[in-house]
Amino acid sequence: MELNDVLAEVRATVGTVTTGVVTSAIPALARVDPHRFGMAFAGVDGEVVGVGDWDEAFSVQSVSKVFSLALVLAHDGEALWTRVRRQPSVHRFNSLSELDGDCGIPRNPFVNAGALVVTDRLLGITGHAKESVLALLLTESGGGPYVDHAVAADEQAHNHRNSAIAHLIADHGNLHHPVEDVLAHYTGHCAIAATCGQLATAALFLARGGIRANGERLLSAADTTRLNATLLTCGTYDAAGDFAYSVGLPAKSGIGGGILAVIPGRGILCAWGPALDTHGNSVAATLALSTFTSITGWSIF
Ligand code: GLN
Repeated sequence: MELNDVLAEVRATVGTVTTGVVTSAIPALARVDPHRFGMAFAGVDGEVVGVGDWDEAFSVQSVSKVFSLALVLAHDGEALWTRVRRQPSVHRFNSLSELDGDCGIPRNPFVNAGALVVTDRLLGITGHAKESVLALLLTESGGGPYVDHAVAADEQAHNHRNSAIAHLIADHGNLHHPVEDVLAHYTGHCAIAATCGQLATAALFLARGGIRANGERLLSAADTTRLNATLLTCGTYDAAGDFAYSVGLPAKSGIGGGILAVIPGRGILCAWGPALDTHGNSVAATLALSTFTSITGWSIF
């Protein structure tokens, strides 16, 4: 079956999803039409195909955590894992539970607590975490992604929970920059807007064993495998078990409704639908990805 036909069948299966709720955490995102849907596949050979609203920019939110983590792993390697663990969490992505008992060492790099530590480390490496994540997205996608400053400002104005998480980590000595700086850079890279096609293309290094668009190496093959393993176990938060069961791919979700999924050796999928389930994962994107892997058999299992 041709990829375009697979995507057409996925679109028909997803239809107009009527379950799920658009995030209310960030007012600027609460206004997005819940019926938007798009999906793109970027192949390791350069082929990019899409369906629906795959060329419309949306707020990447936590999908940006893949790129911040990749930059830190590229620099620090194993040393990062003294500051953040690699265990799935049974709590929501923005939970404060476990942090205090775990001495401010977050459960994994994809829950908000862990991503704040990663952003703090990226600030230490490059001096400007938000710009570094955007630069990686721009070079790997070939252009297009941008920071939506209205979304960033809106989240900053409603950031009590992330602020509490960051202060608790700082109290345990696991933040090395001022809490306000870490929050501003974290919120800034979450507020990057990109299309499904751009995001899928930008993440191709994860399907190519760590090799960037220009042929240079970003990550070692081993670190790429391990990043993908962490995505499988932690990338969709406390629903990672169900996601692995139904989709079978390493993936990262965001409350903007995007989900990026890695098919090692083949390519990257990115699906977008703004309405979320109770775990904060897109209902339409999850259904689209599970339909895609059911048709193609391209899960990692
Ligand atoms: N910026 C959002 C937050 O920090 C990202 C959460 C998400 O996409 N799951 O809560």
